[in-house]
Amino acid sequence: MITFISEEIIQTQKEYMKHVRLLNADKKRTAVVVTYGCAQNETDSDKLYAMLFEMGYEKGTDEKGADLVIYNTCSVRENAEVKVYGKVGTLKAKKKKNPDMVIGVCGCLMQQPHASERIRKTFPFVDMVFGTHVIHQFPEMLYHVLTERERVMQVESVDGVIAEGVPVVYDKWYKASIPIMYGCNNFCTYCVVPYTRGRERSRKSKDILAEINALVKKGLKEVTLLGQNVNSYGKDLEDDLDFSDLLSEICKIEEIKRVRFVTSHPKDLTDKLIGVMKDNKKICNSLHLPFQAGNNRVLKEMNRRYTREDYLTLVEKIRAAVPDIALTSDVIVGFPGETEEEFYDTLSLIKKVRFDNLFTFIYSPRKDTKAALMDDPRTYEEKLKNFNELLAVQTEICREANEAYLNNVYEIIDEGLSKNNPKMRQGRTTTNKVINYKAAREVQEGDFVMVKVTEVMSWSLVGEQVE
Ligand code: SF4
Repeated sequence: MITFISEEIIQTQKEYMKHVRLLNADKKRTAVVVTYGCAQNETDSDKLYAMLFEMGYEKGTDEKGADLVIYNTCSVRENAEVKVYGKVGTLKAKKKKNPDMVIGVCGCLMQQPHASERIRKTFPFVDMVFGTHVIHQFPEMLYHVLTERERVMQVESVDGVIAEGVPVVYDKWYKASIPIMYGCNNFCTYCVVPYTRGRERSRKSKDILAEINALVKKGLKEVTLLGQNVNSYGKDLEDDLDFSDLLSEICKIEEIKRVRFVTSHPKDLTDKLIGVMKDNKKICNSLHLPFQAGNNRVLKEMNRRYTREDYLTLVEKIRAAVPDIALTSDVIVGFPGETEEEFYDTLSLIKKVRFDNLFTFIYSPRKDTKAALMDDPRTYEEKLKNFNELLAVQTEICREANEAYLNNVYEIIDEGLSKNNPKMRQGRTTTNKVINYKAAREVQEGDFVMVKVTEVMSWSLVGEQVE
């Protein structure tokens, strides 16, 4: 059952924020939230920061020097899990020297009993452990830790909650990622998300539009709509918009110039949505459409509910409607039981579609999933060989895709100084390509700039500003 958090509960949390602010009034305190995983986790961290600022904390620079540290964890891959245990362990000595330091661990991983138990037993110095469904109660939990010096654990498994009115803060106000729905009903056999984030639940369109309109007043120009499967948006709501209509409504907001969305499940991407993408120039020409495997037996074992042929037909339809669209995707190499021959079906799909970018992972088993119980006869080395082969093919495709940009002029949104070269600036095209460029005059972050591409790399582009 989905629980809607009442305004009274959010109001109570705001009272706790005031109490914590008073407790912190004696001196300046810093907080660091370390985020692992997906964009959904990043927005949860943006909410934690917003609440922390309300409670008198400033953003610290590193975990070791901070008065409060929170690790917002991800359960999707094994290495992210291992990393968190290591990171938490390194704070033990710090906490011994400074017992007032507050340490918290939250996020998807804490919704998995084996992980929250491990934190509870192995790291007794961790003050707060909480899951994804209680982020809105963070002020109350922190108040109890600060006043009673007792550990707080809130990791109950529920189908899911929707909490409106929790403050949120963005680093850059010209662009923001806004969750439109939470959870997932798909139960792909390798994935823990339905267990850790609960069932699909959509926010009401009026709340989403109100949030975007409020952000527009602060300068929002580009919005990314978030959900594990945005194409299912609205299916659980009565008398509300579906995803295509929601997109159309957002595009009507004059100040919004660009709209993106992630993630789309291929089985739910409708002709109606393709039509809206075609007709609406504000919707960016980039689409992340995970295919995961190119072999039908493997897709069935993954419970993806489409075939290789379905996927290729969908790509054709999308490209017919939006010819210059940049497609990106996720792919898993070495799913349990995948043979070398089946891997080559994946490789052939990649060569056929020619994605602009791919997020490629070697399969790693996740506890509580069906795939973790499947026979997995191939060795890691065999899978790694396939992974490297795939990477080499994709690197070449990326470079060739980027070459098409050479000597052409594109509109980008400036994102500040280049990460690679502080003498240059960087920005993003509607196709989500990063261009590092030389500015011809003063440019502010969030400005639209016309840039000519002068050089092409495998993973980025170089250019110069033109009038
Ligand atoms: S669609 Fe599949 S892979 Fe994506 S979150 Fe849902 S279960 Fe996980």
